[in-house]
Amino acid sequence: MESAARIRRPGAADAESHERSGSVMIRIVLFVLLAYIAARVFWRVLTGVFEGLGYQRPGGGAQSVGLVRDPVCGTFILPSKALTSGTGTNTRYFCSEKCRRDYGRIAD
Ligand SMILES: [Zn+2]
Repeated sequence: MESAARIRRPGAADAESHERSGSVMIRIVLFVLLAYIAARVFWRVLTGVFEGLGYQRPGGGAQSVGLVRDPVCGTFILPSKALTSGTGTNTRYFCSEKCRRDYGRIAD
């Protein structure tokens, strides 16, 4: 057990104690920085996978519950129960046939 501890602290430990405490701080900062970068990369990969599977962030991602907003009357609705217009990223969701018709009028 003692040999393992010596591998972790090479050289004269007492003389380097001041420098060591400084390097510990740098290590903590680096660790936090790396953890932050790793989390960001991980999140990007995760959202990339979801988008690759066809998941669409509703209305710019403001709603985390997965509801979409009717652009005509502003009602939040489930995409599975909504009427749609357009395709791909231009898909719009409507609460009723009336709103879909009204949107078509606005768009034209
Ligand atoms: Zn509506």
